[in-house]
Amino acid sequence: MNTLYFVVPCYNEQEVLPETSKRLLAKLMDMISKGMVAEDSRILFVNDGSKDATWSIIEELHSQDEHYSGLKLSRNKGHQNAVLAGLTYAAKYADITISLDADLQDDIDAVDKFVEEYHNGADIVYGVRSARTTDTAFKRTTAQGFYKVLEAFGIEIVYNHADYRLMSKRAVEALLDFKEVNLFLRGIVPLIGFKTAKVEYERHERFAGESKYPLKKMLNLAIDGITSFSIKPIRFITAAGVVTLGISAIFFLWMIINAIMWGLNAFLLVLFSMWFLSGIILLSLGVVGEYVGRMYMETKGRPRFFIDQFLNKD
Ligand code: UDP
Ligand code: MG
Repeated sequence: MNTLYFVVPCYNEQEVLPETSKRLLAKLMDMISKGMVAEDSRILFVNDGSKDATWSIIEELHSQDEHYSGLKLSRNKGHQNAVLAGLTYAAKYADITISLDADLQDDIDAVDKFVEEYHNGADIVYGVRSARTTDTAFKRTTAQGFYKVLEAFGIEIVYNHADYRLMSKRAVEALLDFKEVNLFLRGIVPLIGFKTAKVEYERHERFAGESKYPLKKMLNLAIDGITSFSIKPIRFITAAGVVTLGISAIFFLWMIINAIMWGLNAFLLVLFSMWFLSGIILLSLGVVGEYVGRMYMETKGRPRFFIDQFLNKD
């Protein structure tokens, strides 16, 4: 029987925790009684440096029922780090982890299907939002625009998937082999490989409290997402250099023709020199940038492969 750990990052979630814990426990007990997961399964709340009563609520829950566990970070480290911390600890005890937000915006009834997919052999199951009607128009358009931008940068990402996902023990262990500090889980998890599945669910409204993701945190996440996976922005410099050189060539031709017909024109000479030198400088910057970019990617020391199976007769 498989031990399941729910991993729930919590930042100032005192308004939602009483209800969330109740619903999650009911869900977990239901799954245990149906024999889907083992009795020693847990709901692990990760307190991400909350400034309200979140941690004392978690302590209280833990003392009431052994199915509640708590992990307290030393200070606020952000959603992605809180999830990772929870997974790190959960993977020591669990065969299956499921990460989800404390506000239960992600329909918890989908977890039955998650576990089903796990039993069908999937190591990673992505929760995918079928509709985002409950998000504000602003959140919806910015988020979907963000997925498009990531795609344009060649970053592999599961469309409309946030951090609601199931990961097997070995998938979490593979994830922990990524040592990079700037974490963008949605970009890293697809790099792990193994058999994956998607489960659609409907996204609800936050039932209490307000979003802990203000615009600033969203932008940071977006910038992390792009810069940790792509050095394409550097290519833009190189491309700009090439275009600028192209323009300088036009001025060069113009200057030559002009010189043959009417003699050297100082103004055209200056114009040509300006574009030519700027082009050279931009191109050089791009070349240097390519090396810097390579170094940046190398410093991440990402694992090069993971083994799914090894068939070998001794
Ligand atoms: N969260 C966190 N640390 C932070 C910000 C958010 O652990 O610094 C948690 C938060 O408690 C919630 C999840 O991340 O469980 C998603 O946050 P939220 O629901 O506010 O984001 P939204 O749904 O508005 O995108
Ligand atoms: Mg939310």
